[in-house]
Amino acid sequence: MDTTKEHALDKKAGPSAQTAIVMEVNNVTKVFDSAAGRVLALRGINISIRKGEFVAIVGPSGSGKSTLLNIIGALDKPSSGRVYINGIDVFALSDSEMATMRNHLIGFIFQSYNLINRTTVLKNVELPGVLSDMGSDERRRRAEKLLEVLGIGDKAGFKPVNLSGGQQQRVAIARSLMNDPAIILADEPTGNLDTATGKEVFDLLKMLSSKFRRTIIMVTHNPELAEACDRAIYIRDGRVEKEVINN
Ligand code: ADP
Ligand code: MG
Repeated sequence: MDTTKEHALDKKAGPSAQTAIVMEVNNVTKVFDSAAGRVLALRGINISIRKGEFVAIVGPSGSGKSTLLNIIGALDKPSSGRVYINGIDVFALSDSEMATMRNHLIGFIFQSYNLINRTTVLKNVELPGVLSDMGSDERRRRAEKLLEVLGIGDKAGFKPVNLSGGQQQRVAIARSLMNDPAIILADEPTGNLDTATGKEVFDLLKMLSSKFRRTIIMVTHNPELAEACDRAIYIRDGRVEKEVINN
């Protein structure tokens, strides 16, 4: 399997790369069977995402946004349908191939940061590098650099719990970048932040998109943020309701 990264953090991709399709979601459905009954969370989703695009996924609570993001990121499997990342049929891979692909190609950012509070900010950022067998020196250097790029270089030795929400989300963004992923998935990354701090976090993602050509898929409830993305995909009742291309 080819998980070759096509660009380093410090390099820009060429113009032709901008039109390449990095992800295709084909007819994806997801059914949850639980004690409460059967839920059709996704009812046939089709989405195509170009390399370097910054896409917002918008929709009411319970419409299937997180379910979709988890499937796109290979954290959960669809009930039917396919997801292709760089042309690879993700759910045709073995579990270990899938884990390798996820670890090298995809960075995750969550609403509640999901940081480990008993260890330092630096160790949190280093973690994906541990999982990908990066050497300890390189890991440390890279984590320190990412924290600096994100404006929290002075917080490396702190425990996450002692930082503000905005600072914690910056740590989570740094962590998501540790393995230089081509794709960043963010599930309501500004959902726990006040408007001004949320805007700062959003601007960092925007910078990753424009300056470093990352592909970013972000779930948000905030219409202003959705309008500031390249494209907004509106989800309702497990279906794509509409797509809006912004300028
Ligand atoms: P959103 O992120 O848009 O708020 P979700 O993707 O979390 O929506 O949920 C979509 C639907 O699927 C909801 O009805 C939710 O209750 C249901 N759902 C999500 N995860 C599970 C699960 N693990 N088990 C059962 N139902 C679930
Ligand atoms: Mg959700």
